[in-house]
Amino acid sequence: MKDQSEPIKERLSQVWNKDQWLQSANAITRKRAGAGNLWASPDGIEPRKELLYLSVGIPDSDELPRAELNEAMKDVMHRNDDTSLRYGFGPGYYPVRKYLAETYSRERGFAVTPDWFMLFNGSSGAIDQIARCLVDPGEVILCETPTYMGSLANFYGVGAEVCPVTMDQDGLSISDLKQKVQALKGQGKTIKLLYTISTFHNPTGTALNTQRKMALLDLAEREKFVILDDDAYGDLYYEARPSDTLSSLSGGHGVLTVGTFSKVLATGIRIGWIHAHPDAINLFTRMKFDMGQNQMALHMMGRFLEKGHLESHVEKMRVLYKKKMILAADFLSENLSDHIEFNRPSGGFYLWVKLKPGLSARSVWRTATQEGVAVNQGYTFIPDYRQGDGEYIRIAFSWTPMYQLEEALDRLKTAILRVVNGKAA
Ligand code: PMP
Repeated sequence: MKDQSEPIKERLSQVWNKDQWLQSANAITRKRAGAGNLWASPDGIEPRKELLYLSVGIPDSDELPRAELNEAMKDVMHRNDDTSLRYGFGPGYYPVRKYLAETYSRERGFAVTPDWFMLFNGSSGAIDQIARCLVDPGEVILCETPTYMGSLANFYGVGAEVCPVTMDQDGLSISDLKQKVQALKGQGKTIKLLYTISTFHNPTGTALNTQRKMALLDLAEREKFVILDDDAYGDLYYEARPSDTLSSLSGGHGVLTVGTFSKVLATGIRIGWIHAHPDAINLFTRMKFDMGQNQMALHMMGRFLEKGHLESHVEKMRVLYKKKMILAADFLSENLSDHIEFNRPSGGFYLWVKLKPGLSARSVWRTATQEGVAVNQGYTFIPDYRQGDGEYIRIAFSWTPMYQLEEALDRLKTAILRVVNGKAA
């Protein structure tokens, strides 16, 4: 028997084609719909070996604390009540915010309470909320160049105008920032936000020193823009925690910090937060319109934290990432110093590698893929990029396990030498 809905299904399918969806998108979404995939593999290149990855900035795949996470999840599922399986509204699961408040108070220079925290679906969820709450279309968001492009998608998604500020080996350039601010003011523009990854920056690895943080706060106070400090990597120092943060130096006034368990633990857990003055948290709580966060993940995390597993894990990971950074940096210095330059970071996941004149990042990227190793082209971190040859690549040494890291670097060396010798893919 013919289903009576067949004709309407057929007619609807004629209406709702790809173009109709595009036409239905709002003006901002429609404009962004054509944005290319910055992390795609090179066209027409077949890797000669199974790919190894120096392109993935996530925790080491061999070192995830699976047993402890499993145990924490089991504990939650064996509880008699249903709190982990029903909605949780407002700023988020109290035990996790309490843990954050205690840890921040102990480690980050000033005492805060759980109402200084609001939980989100990763720090990108937090950044998205901040952009949607604070920024009107056409308002300016200043950011570092290069920067983490994921956040720029959040900013473009609210119609913000993004204005890049240059960096040097110590991070954001305050003199360039001042010039950009003056120029924007001259054009009558409203600067709403400055987005910085002040500690162990992605992709450059730099950390802003106290003097620059103070200069930045001074300017933010005068020009009345909000500072958004993306602190995804701050806990992953190799030697010592930086002595202060933009949050501690400002007392949290006018500074929003976002954090995440993604880099210290696992990206799939999707728990991030805003750390800010309770007045700001209050605003964000009132402006969040979904039905709350993933309670199962939060309850599991609460149990994991309660048992003290995070501290011991992060301590181990700091040692591991330091070892990996040294292995990668030593390898590159010993084998490729005629062709590349880079600085050693004091924390985080990345080496930002400058190719010497004549070497194109695009050729290195393509040839490396053919040799069986993925790297990122530097232009993908440059807000006002034009796809072209470029002079930087980013090496992420975090994800690939130690036993494969040297092999991955060796393949990169082969690729760079091929490009140097005119044998690019
Ligand atoms: N900020 C920075 C600087 C990052 O590098 C990343 C992840 N690559 C994020 C935010 C997003 O992390 P999350 O998983 O917490 O959304």
